[in-house]
Amino acid sequence: MSAHLLVLGGTTEARELAALLGARPGLRVTTSLAGRVTRPGALAGEVRTGGFGGARGLARWLREHAVDAVIDATHPFAARITAHGVRAAAEVGVPYAVLRRPGWVREDGDRWHRVPSLESAAALVPALGRRALLTTGRLGLAAFAGLTDVRCVVRSVEPPEPPVPPRLEVVLARGPFTVAEEVALLRERRIEVLVTKDSGGAATAAKLVAARTVGVPVIVVDRPELPAGAVVVGDVAEAVGWWEGGRGLA
Ligand code: NAP
Repeated sequence: MSAHLLVLGGTTEARELAALLGARPGLRVTTSLAGRVTRPGALAGEVRTGGFGGARGLARWLREHAVDAVIDATHPFAARITAHGVRAAAEVGVPYAVLRRPGWVREDGDRWHRVPSLESAAALVPALGRRALLTTGRLGLAAFAGLTDVRCVVRSVEPPEPPVPPRLEVVLARGPFTVAEEVALLRERRIEVLVTKDSGGAATAAKLVAARTVGVPVIVVDRPELPAGAVVVGDVAEAVGWWEGGRGLA
């Protein structure tokens, strides 16, 4: 009988895990997606889409689908699904590892201001500049809707939906972006402050190098805390090691 691994997805790491483990004999890999992206692209192994209905729904899913282990490879800011996952796995007695890529580290020349939430980032923006580049994601824009005196530049694939900041400039573009492109954006739009979540990873780090180059201050929103006692692995290789080490089959 094959073992069943559930990967909670929505990230590059989840995609890589499915590609690495999905083809192994004796192992069935299901990736779970929230369903926010219309065309998420092909994934190795099986895919299921949509919420589970809270921690209880997830616990039920783990039982009904005879899951042997879970690797939570969701985004560092997707705190709710991780809280539910840890709770559900503990209830069912299924081993659970959280794949959390490291956060970004400040370097010489960086002018970073760390804040605990999007709301505190919005409160700090007016003190640092009148033109802000917000890279906190479409759904995060509501937190900046009260910024009446700041011109906010937002880059997204599709136009963002309200609530959004009142003085909004939308740049329609799809990443990833190079450092040269990020420097050009900061200069052309005369950006005085950049706001980002501490997502970590290489794919969206060019804007931080650009801000350092141009001398723009950056408001960095800290990650939500992981649930107490969670088993954490730092990258895809460690996650595979966790599985191969037998934790997934304990
Ligand atoms: P969230 O606040 O932690 O989760 C909200 C709800 O969405 C969860 O309670 C769950 O619904 C459902 N959900 C989330 N991830 C799921 C998954 N992988 N499979 C099935 N259901 C899932 O998450 P979020 O911040 O809205 O992010 C949604 C997804 O986008 C995540 O999978 C994440 O990896 C990805 N993502 C998030 C960000 C970000 O900045 N937050 C960035 C890039 C990608 P039920 O309670 O009904 O189970």
